[in-house]
Amino acid sequence: MSTPSQQVDLISSKQADSVKKQNLLDFDREAFVAYFTEMGEKPFRATQIMKWIYQFGVTDFGQMNNLSKALREQLDESAEVKNLEIASDKLSTDGTRKWLLRLPDGNLIESVFIPEDDRGTLCISSQVGCALDCSFCATGRQGFNRNLTTGEIISQIWLASKLLDEGQTQHSTKTSGKSKSSGKNISGASHTENPLSKKVTNVVMMGMGEPLLNFDNVVRAVRLMMDDFAYGLSKRRVTVSTAGVVPAMDRLSTILDMRLAVSLHATNDELRNELVPLNKKYPIKELFAACRRFVDQQNARYRITFEYVMLDGVNDQPEHARELIKLLKGLPTLINLIPFNPFAGSGYGTSSGNAVRRFSDILNQAGITTVVRKTRGEDIDAACGQLAGKIQDKSRRERRFVEPRFGMKE
Ligand code: SAH
Repeated sequence: MSTPSQQVDLISSKQADSVKKQNLLDFDREAFVAYFTEMGEKPFRATQIMKWIYQFGVTDFGQMNNLSKALREQLDESAEVKNLEIASDKLSTDGTRKWLLRLPDGNLIESVFIPEDDRGTLCISSQVGCALDCSFCATGRQGFNRNLTTGEIISQIWLASKLLDEGQTQHSTKTSGKSKSSGKNISGASHTENPLSKKVTNVVMMGMGEPLLNFDNVVRAVRLMMDDFAYGLSKRRVTVSTAGVVPAMDRLSTILDMRLAVSLHATNDELRNELVPLNKKYPIKELFAACRRFVDQQNARYRITFEYVMLDGVNDQPEHARELIKLLKGLPTLINLIPFNPFAGSGYGTSSGNAVRRFSDILNQAGITTVVRKTRGEDIDAACGQLAGKIQDKSRRERRFVEPRFGMKE
């Protein structure tokens, strides 16, 4: 059964057939089944084509030899598997790899692959820019343009998997923007010097954007990540990170089972209003009530991760750690302390190693599992909050959820 929104998608795609081909990356399994049923094909075509696209990395219908010739021709006429264009491909000295990806409308977004011994985590973007305007985040400074489509979200995984699998890279013809890089631009050379994982085993939606403000497209993309005929990632290997869009957290908990990360960053409303202006709409008390409902709904199968960026002298004092312990009481959680990654004009400093240790010790002693996130890919501007891409800002028109921050020029 297709949902009403998928039916609308199908109708609109049909109307546009003569002009524009349907990008099959926009479909989750349900949408594929609806699409093939509409064409008079059997529903199992859905899983056949998903395997070709996601497991064999094939985008040319001509090669899909278990589909009839007639169907292949029909697909050729009306559909395509359209991936994003790679604008640049950079490798950090620590093995982190960052892709700058060009969207059809010219905007540029970023994804980052973080290899470790036992896993490879791909950090992907959900929006072009971000409307939330968190005061310490470089992405937020760029403003907001639009939501990514399901296809644009899933294409980030398709491209990363393909490039990592082949151990080959695309030419980095345009590496617009950053120049301080001591990491390499990859051009054609295979990088065998990297001994770490070369497979995407985990996906985190912690790149540009607020995933829960692009709800339907993110849900469809997450379904593909977890579908056995696409990437087949287990639920604990897919994380959606949110700054705390409360109604969307509730909705999400009833329709998807994956890991949730919440960007907390402050333990009282006064400070959180300043750091994460979305807090004015959904204050801490409401956010934590939503976290508790989320855990109840998911039967506490996974702990919620709280992300907490350590800002020197702002939120990194022992009293903040103690406030945090009170907030977390009774919730199955994991705290991720993120060293602040500075950028020009941010106005914040990175907490000292001592401050971070003191903070994490207080939490650990209270029985709260606390991990200090390693900063990776700094030399290629791939660390948390450094993803900026290159976007045409439309936030004046589209910023709906947040009041402008006091003193910030809009
Ligand atoms: N909007 C979502 C997804 C973005 S996740 C969310 O807020 O969760 C990106 C993570 O990196 C968030 O936890 C964000 O707060 C954090 N971050 C942003 N800027 C940062 C910076 N300069 N240094 C370290 N972490 C940062």
